[in-house]
Amino acid sequence: MSPSKLEITRTISPKPLTPSASLVFGKTFTDHMLTIPWEMNSGWGSPRITPYGPLSLEPSATVLHYAQTLFEGMKAYRHDDGKVSLFRPDMNMKRMNTSARRIALPTFDGGALLELIKQLIRLDNHWIPKEPGHSLYIRPTLIGTQRAIGVNPPNEALLFVICSPVGPYYPDGFKPVALYGTSEYIRAAPGGTGAYKLGVNYAPGVMPQKIAAERGYVQNLWLHGPEHYLTEVGTMNLFVVFRLPDGTLELVTPPLDGMILPGVTRDSVLSLARDHSAGKYQLPGLSGQLRVTERPVTMREVQDASQSGTLVELFGAGTAAVISPVDRVGYQGQDIIIPTEADGMGPLSRPLWTELVGRQTGKIPSDWSVL
Ligand code: PMP
Repeated sequence: MSPSKLEITRTISPKPLTPSASLVFGKTFTDHMLTIPWEMNSGWGSPRITPYGPLSLEPSATVLHYAQTLFEGMKAYRHDDGKVSLFRPDMNMKRMNTSARRIALPTFDGGALLELIKQLIRLDNHWIPKEPGHSLYIRPTLIGTQRAIGVNPPNEALLFVICSPVGPYYPDGFKPVALYGTSEYIRAAPGGTGAYKLGVNYAPGVMPQKIAAERGYVQNLWLHGPEHYLTEVGTMNLFVVFRLPDGTLELVTPPLDGMILPGVTRDSVLSLARDHSAGKYQLPGLSGQLRVTERPVTMREVQDASQSGTLVELFGAGTAAVISPVDRVGYQGQDIIIPTEADGMGPLSRPLWTELVGRQTGKIPSDWSVL
């Protein structure tokens, strides 16, 4: 997939830009897309940027039968000076290759794909909204396209990248969400595919999400095993903050045990919090001691902490919302109340959000922001 072999065919009928105020997540696409074919014998073919439009697949294509598909989700942010950056995109490239390996789809040179993605967003630069909180969502996808029904590593595949301008997740300030503690359905299991960004992990979550919505909750809180370990929130990683007897705040997230997606935001939150607790850096406005732990957490522990007043906050973390505070968890017929402050955030989620968004948008200089 050599970037030097890139062929570009520009659209002859550019679409009118959707006004930023009426953007709905994932419904608007830019003028162009990137495609790179792969074949077992010859490997990756020449990359092409062409007008955004339908793909041509035979009905026998294995992606349509056995979910041979994986994807990434990353964003390009426009800075105040007009420049554009990506946030830790090397991590998305690495995770995409890890996902590919898990379902026997071809791996690729992450640096080369990143270079091609940059070319695509340079071409569609005017689609990246300028308004605060807006960005360009980038969706690299890899599918198996073998034209023969058979459950094998496919002999043909297609990598494509499409881009969608998006508005802020919370247009009117933070709105904490209510979660439905789900134990009757699972998102992931030991030895399964939860740690990979595969299409197969998402379709089975749609019906449980519908049930949660019918019961008045926004997302599923996926629980695991008879102990009801907390794993993830909808399509976000999960963090809980406890106050320890000596006043130290403990930031806890479940460990990467094969059931948790290794989120870029999760890693960034852990890294900022660890640097703060090591005294290498100060999270804005956070005082006192902080302990950071990757360990299993049970619903019992959350319930007990809520009752004893030692539960400080609970939030989701992911590319779409950055940080998503939670104010209520429905569990076994009752609601566990999670503290939130007047702005909807908590003492740790607020400085983390400020720092992450600052780094994403170039307001806070950081080597995580890649131009
Ligand atoms: N968990 C799941 C299941 C997800 O789909 C996502 C979104 N990619 C995340 C967590 C958060 O990952 P990231 O911070 O890389 O967006």
